[in-house]
Amino acid sequence: MEFLPSDYFTYRDNELYCEEVPFREILEQYGTPAYVYSERYFVDRYKKFDAAFAEIPHRIFYAVKSNFNLSVIKLFAELGAGADVNSMGEYLRARKAGLAPKDVLLTGVGKTDEEIRRGIEDDLAMIKVESYEELRAVNEIARELGKVAPVAVRVNPDVDPKTHPYITTGLKEGKFGVSPEEARRMYADDSLEAVKFVGIDTHIGSQISSVEPYVETVEKMAATFRELRDAGVPLEHLDLGGGYGVRYENEDVFPVEALAERIVPILKPLECEVYFEPGRYLTANGGALGVKVLYVKKAGAKTVAVTDGAMTELFRPALYGAYHHVQPITQTPERDFLDTDVVGPVCETADFIGRGRRLREVRRGDYLAVCSAGSYGMTMSSNYNGRRRAPEIIVSGAEVRVARSREEYDSLLWDEAERLG
Ligand code: PLP
Repeated sequence: MEFLPSDYFTYRDNELYCEEVPFREILEQYGTPAYVYSERYFVDRYKKFDAAFAEIPHRIFYAVKSNFNLSVIKLFAELGAGADVNSMGEYLRARKAGLAPKDVLLTGVGKTDEEIRRGIEDDLAMIKVESYEELRAVNEIARELGKVAPVAVRVNPDVDPKTHPYITTGLKEGKFGVSPEEARRMYADDSLEAVKFVGIDTHIGSQISSVEPYVETVEKMAATFRELRDAGVPLEHLDLGGGYGVRYENEDVFPVEALAERIVPILKPLECEVYFEPGRYLTANGGALGVKVLYVKKAGAKTVAVTDGAMTELFRPALYGAYHHVQPITQTPERDFLDTDVVGPVCETADFIGRGRRLREVRRGDYLAVCSAGSYGMTMSSNYNGRRRAPEIIVSGAEVRVARSREEYDSLLWDEAERLG
C-alpha cells in the first residue's frame, strides 16, 4: 500500500480518488495543472481543532494566507471561524467571502498606513502591532480618524520551534514581533490615547511538529499576560498564532488533542479568550496538485519526468526544499520502480516538484498527484514564464465544483496591451 498523507485521497482499484470522485475524471475535464481540494477534509479538520479546545473560551481565526480561495474562506467562516489576514488583499478576500470586519484580525510585520487606516475605519476585531513605531503609527491614524484602535502587541518569546529557518518566527533576532521587555514598555505607554490594548499575541513559526515549543511559549506568554493584567492592562485575549505541523512525508506530528492536553491547564486559569490562527493544519492535506507528464528522459542513472506543473504552481520545493509526496493517479503494479526526478518546465534548476523519488516508471501522458498542496500552494503561485495560474476544484462527496477557473491569457495581457499605444 502506498503512503498517502490524507485519508480523503484514496486508491480504489488502482485509481486515485478525492472523496468519491476519480481524480482522473477531474483532470480530464479541467486540464492540468489543477488544484483539487477535499471539502470534507477541511470541515473535519476544523471541527477536530475546535473540539480539542472546547474546555476553554477560544476563537479560531483561519490564516487566510495558507489558502485564500473565496470558497475555502467561506467554508471556514460558515463553520464559525474568523480570519487572520496579512494584507489589504487578504482582507478584501475575507470580506468578499462573507466575513464581517469584527471577525477579522489584521496581522503583518509591515502594514501600510492605508491598511491600518482601513482596519481602524472598518472596526476590525484587532490590529496586531509588531514594533513600537507601528504602535505609534496606529495611535496617530486612529486619532486622526477620531477612533480608538483595538490593538495586541506581537511578542516574540524567543522559543526555537525547531522547524525550517525560513518559517521560524519567534527567535529574538527575527524580524517579527518585539521582546517581552519592549512589549511591557509599549503596554505601559499612557500617551497613546487612541489605542486600546485588547490582547497579547505571538506566533513562533510554521510546520512545528512537537508540542514542546508551544508549551514553552504558552508558559512564557501566560507569565507576561498575568504581569500585564496585574499592572492594570485590561487584556481580553491571548493569541497563540498558528504553525501546527502536518504530515508531508513521514514526520511524527502531534495530534492537536495532545497539544490541548498540555496547554489548556496553563491557559484556563488566565480566564481570557484564547485565539488560534491555524492555516496549514486546516488546509495542507486537504489538497493535491494534479499534473501531467509531458516528457520522460534519462539523465545519468536517473529518470527525469518533466510535468506541466511547476514552481509557478507550487513554490514550496524551490523556496524551502519542501517535500511533497508524489503519487500516480493510476497505479501500475506491473511497472518497475525507478529513481525519478519530477520537475517542471520553468527555466530554473530550482523548478522541481520532487527529486530522487522511488516511483514506478512514469510515461508521457501519465497523471501525477502532488500531495499536501492545500496550503501555501495556490497562494504562492506566480505568472513566471508567462504561465497562467491553475484552477482550483473543490470536491464534496460525489460533487465537483470549480472554485477558480484557469487564468485566461487575455486577462493577463489586457492592461499592458492597452498601454502599447
Ligand atoms: N499567524 C501568523 C501571524 C502567521 O504568520 C502564520 C503563517 O505564517 C500563520 C498564523 C499560519 O501558520 P500555519 O499555516 O503554519 O498554521
